[in-house]
Amino acid sequence: MSGSTQNQAQPSPSPSAIVRTDDESSVVARLKQKIRTDGPITVASFMDIALSDPDGGYYATRDPLGVAGDFTTAPEISQIFGELVGLWCVDTWQSMGAPNAFAVVELGPGRGTLMADALRAMRAMRQVSTCHAAASVHLVETSPVLRESQQRMLAGENITWHTSLPDLGRMPAIYIANEFFDALPIHQYVKLDGDWCERVVALDPTHEHFSFTLDQNRTFPLRDVTKLLADAEDGTIFEYSPTVRSSIDDIARLLFLHGGAGLIIDYGYTRHATGQTLQAVRKHRPVDPLDDPGNCDLTAHVNFQLLSETATSAGIKVWGPIDQGNFLQKLGIQTRAATLLKTATVSQAHDIRTAVTRLIAPAEMGALFKVMALSDSGVSHLAGFEPDA
Ligand code: SAH
Repeated sequence: MSGSTQNQAQPSPSPSAIVRTDDESSVVARLKQKIRTDGPITVASFMDIALSDPDGGYYATRDPLGVAGDFTTAPEISQIFGELVGLWCVDTWQSMGAPNAFAVVELGPGRGTLMADALRAMRAMRQVSTCHAAASVHLVETSPVLRESQQRMLAGENITWHTSLPDLGRMPAIYIANEFFDALPIHQYVKLDGDWCERVVALDPTHEHFSFTLDQNRTFPLRDVTKLLADAEDGTIFEYSPTVRSSIDDIARLLFLHGGAGLIIDYGYTRHATGQTLQAVRKHRPVDPLDDPGNCDLTAHVNFQLLSETATSAGIKVWGPIDQGNFLQKLGIQTRAATLLKTATVSQAHDIRTAVTRLIAPAEMGALFKVMALSDSGVSHLAGFEPDA
């Protein structure tokens, strides 16, 4: 059943030898070439190339957000989302002891909408205007197309861009990540005759289409969820993302060394779990994840227990996760909406109410999306994470 040695007898074509048919994207050609050369590739490798290949990867080549794109995120639904995150930053800065200089670092900022709304709200907090003055803003973005959108959206702001988590010396920082971790590659493992083997992507016999197969030579590396895995039935899928783990570990280490906090918002599950969550979306509709790599968004639900355990092992305090609906209500989404409604036209009022419902209703984004915060051990209060009254 293992396909990892398939086609290895063939000579390895050099990158310049990639052959593309007219209707084939460069990402499809690259994936096919890699599979023909190396044999079936992991789901993580498939995701990574499909999303991030510099020449044709999904994020590298387009702005996928909004009604005309493939999916809509919370900051694109309402300005209130980014404003509340901005107020959260001000409050957190105070909890950090109001340092004279600190960084706000956003990972995967999309169009820059969240940051634009957050900075406006931070600036408007007159009684703590020193917070805005103390902040330097850093965006971590690999997509050149989205960087351009961010530059337009944040024109006039003093921003530094990075392709990976920046080293800011000893500066304390607040890290923000909304719908970032779901875009990082995951591995999938399938239980087969009592063993876990890796699910990989191969080419079907015609070499036209991608298909899933299993590689029995690749076994599952993580030990601390063995009870869950031992109890699972044959055929069960388990997902694991070393990239998510190492990203959180990097943030946690920086927080441990230099202080600060992180806010992570994403769809996901709060305990280790089995089941497959890899999904592809195009034009707001689900599509087959293997059908059109490079032209659809590929994501997986985030394992918040993995985040929490990784941060705790690095000596970092973990807050939540709590439901997004609960978090936004504690931050005062209804009060902010009421203020906006006072000056809204009938149609704007309808839009504001619809947006708030979308963000907080349990049947919409309110319960699926979770909010987790991280902080150094000196932080004793974080807005939104107070116990329920
Ligand atoms: N946070 C935004 C956008 C979410 S889409 C919002 O809420 O609207 C995912 C974002 O992560 C995009 O900006 C994408 O280009 C970026 N991204 C994906 N993989 C990345 C990586 N490995 N490093 C940095 N940015 C990445």
